[in-house]
Amino acid sequence: MQKTVNKSFNISGITLHSGIISNLSVHPATANTGIVFRRVDIKNSNEETLIEAKFNNVSTSNLCTKITNKYGISVSTIEHLMSALHGMGVDNAIIEVDCDELPILDGSSVEYVSQIQSIGLKSLNVEKKFLSISRPIVFSMNDSFVKVSPSDNFEVDYTISYDHNLIKEQRFNYEFKDSNQFKNLISNCRTFGFKDEVDSLRKRGLIAGGSLDNAIVLDKQGIVNKDKLRQENEFVKHKILDFIGDIYLLGYSVKGAFEIYKGGHRLTHEIMNSIMSDQSNWRLIKQENLNDKKYQKTYYTKSIALSL
Ligand SMILES: [Zn+2]
Repeated sequence: MQKTVNKSFNISGITLHSGIISNLSVHPATANTGIVFRRVDIKNSNEETLIEAKFNNVSTSNLCTKITNKYGISVSTIEHLMSALHGMGVDNAIIEVDCDELPILDGSSVEYVSQIQSIGLKSLNVEKKFLSISRPIVFSMNDSFVKVSPSDNFEVDYTISYDHNLIKEQRFNYEFKDSNQFKNLISNCRTFGFKDEVDSLRKRGLIAGGSLDNAIVLDKQGIVNKDKLRQENEFVKHKILDFIGDIYLLGYSVKGAFEIYKGGHRLTHEIMNSIMSDQSNWRLIKQENLNDKKYQKTYYTKSIALSL
């Protein structure tokens, strides 16, 4: 069955890019609503202030994920909340926010996850559907790529590669089991950045709210923050956290096995466009139909490779 949050909850905090205080409320929603944002600071008609969390509303995927509706109303840095909603199994929710960016909190999804867990979920009387990948699809850009194949589960095999001796090549193969596993393995992994880049972004007026409280910062010697890493492989696991949030913009939980090399918000956005560009790439199924013969996937020998 589809689920929503038991009751509303509020979270406030500084935003990463503009450095102002953002106040948001997560509200229960009826079945088939999906995840919808509402800008309460804009006094237009109700319809004009609603922004559906859908891949075709993505307007920027540089540094963060930003969605914009057809009236030009937008909200950005949605990926960590989207990850918490996806990982915790929230199918429907209305998110009210009083500015154009969500709070960065501690740079992970853990605060959202704790709130969702303490409030609990409510089952709605409508069956949940999954977006199941029907055939292999590849999107590549320079030396990075995302490949997705049919699977009865949601799997993310992610590799990152950085010229830094603390990271180098880091790989983690995540197979989604349940919300507790998502909470323990992924949800508290923080975003990270390199000191040189941080300084140049600051000079350009970006990441005004960025600090050691909401990101792991690396310099040539190692980690600048006083506290240690929260998890082994925290860097690649944060990239998986981002991916789980961004891919939820398909509008459904996904059944598919993703292999990602040096990914990011942009690459996830492009693979969503590739998946949805052809109706034969995917189908909507119910959980019980996963093992049903007539729903069984058709494998195509030739994958679709797109390149910029
Ligand atoms: Zn992130």
